[in-house]
Amino acid sequence: MSKVVVIGANHAGTATINTILDNYEGYEVEAFDANSNISFLGCGMALWIGEQISGPSGLFYQTKEQFEAKGATIHMECPVERVDFDAKVVYARDKDGTAYEASYDKLVLATGSLPILPRFEGGDLENIQQVKLFQDAQEVVDKLEDPAIKTVAVVGAGYIGVELAEAFQRNGRHTLLVDMAPTCMANNFDPEFSEMMARNLAEHGIEAHYGEGVDHFEGVDGKVTKLVTDKGAYDVDMVCVCIGFRPNSALADSDAFEKLGNGALVVDRHQMTSVEDVYAVGDCATIFNNSLDGAPGYIALASNAVRSGIVAGHNICGTALETPGVQGSSGICIFDLKMVSTGLTESAAKRAGIEVKATTVTGPQKAPFIEHDNPDATCKIVYDAQTRAILGAQIASTYDMHGNINLFSLAVEKKVTIDELKLLDIFFLPHFNAPYNYITMAALQAE
Ligand SMILES: Cc1cc2nc3c(=O)[nH]c(=O)nc-3n(C[C@H](O)[C@H](O)[C@H](O)COP(=O)(O)OP(=O)(O)OC[C@H]3O[C@@H](n4cnc5c(N)ncnc54)[C@H](O)[C@@H]3O)c2cc1C
Repeated sequence: MSKVVVIGANHAGTATINTILDNYEGYEVEAFDANSNISFLGCGMALWIGEQISGPSGLFYQTKEQFEAKGATIHMECPVERVDFDAKVVYARDKDGTAYEASYDKLVLATGSLPILPRFEGGDLENIQQVKLFQDAQEVVDKLEDPAIKTVAVVGAGYIGVELAEAFQRNGRHTLLVDMAPTCMANNFDPEFSEMMARNLAEHGIEAHYGEGVDHFEGVDGKVTKLVTDKGAYDVDMVCVCIGFRPNSALADSDAFEKLGNGALVVDRHQMTSVEDVYAVGDCATIFNNSLDGAPGYIALASNAVRSGIVAGHNICGTALETPGVQGSSGICIFDLKMVSTGLTESAAKRAGIEVKATTVTGPQKAPFIEHDNPDATCKIVYDAQTRAILGAQIASTYDMHGNINLFSLAVEKKVTIDELKLLDIFFLPHFNAPYNYITMAALQAE
């Protein structure tokens, strides 16, 4: 029996454990998680707060008991305190104080990420919330039972902040959205797309304060009452801080581990770290970014976490499987406006010093003679000015066109050029798309 110890049993850890238990015999799996639940889908948090789903029960897809039925040993509420990487032993302690020691042949670090929480003055006041765990969401939902919570400020207008702003507004709260950046979702979209979302949020009553940095919070009786930025002061009853996440890699405290500047554990294409027999998966690890020629980067997404867990599981058990890398494909749907993206935006390419060109087309989703449910979609493709390889794409519409972005995801991964896209066999049926569809047209009009 070969022994695999997994630290962290959320999305990445779960994918690793299931890959091993479902496909291989002769492996003993023991996992430790600091939390009391497994596989919480954080993406459902906003839907729950915004009362678009009836409750959180569907936001989990894996239990401790399901793992145990397949033969694994699972310790919940049992944080690993340290690892002796030379002796190959993990030391943990559960909530009752019982200490555990587990030796391993292979170790998987699946310790995920932690919210970035700057030390603002007044940052420890009551009703300043973070959003990561199921418990964080439950706390917010419980507090919203209090009608005295009338105004909520969301700090950070990335995709999670924008989703939460929608959720609080749907929940009947006056909602402020504050970000230092000049617009929302500036990391995932170019300004013309961000502006579409900014208009959408404003039309639904969300009060945006872009280009404003939080300075401090003020409170009365220990509860937050005011958010003060470098440009103004706003009365608030609750604040949600979601300005990003950092890799939780503190257990890998030996210099032998190669890390990115933000602490993400650098892994090879088998998910192995720079320490033999120690793998890292999910939000604590790097990815290979195909839109930047496969350079190691950090993109914290559940989709990446699951895929990296699958890759690690197979390699641990002797099946060589290389990750093809990722493009950071993601999507958002806010008050019916759907926006999806993959790879580099034009702005990100410029920041990275890559000379790119872009082509954009806005056209009806379906054949123009379809009179109903046929909104326009805007599609922008970014490509390398020299090699003409597609480096990224963005699409926005109130129509559900999200699947189209996966075509671009594969194009970036496989280095398809904008010219190869021009005559790609894209089917036509009036119910679904137009004979002169916006993907073909955008490619054809590329310089
Ligand atoms: C509000 C929100 C919305 C999101 N929406 C999306 C979305 O729509 N699409 C998408 O792809 N991604 C989304 N994400 C990102 C996604 O949730 C993360 O990328 C994903 O959770 C990463 O999974 P992970 O298993 O690597 O890490 P985590 O989910 O961070 O899990 C790490 C686990 O390790 C455990 N752990 C940590 N340290 C120790 C220790 N010392 N000992 C034992 N256990 C430990 C923790 O308890 C935890 O269970 C969202 C995230 C949030 C917060």
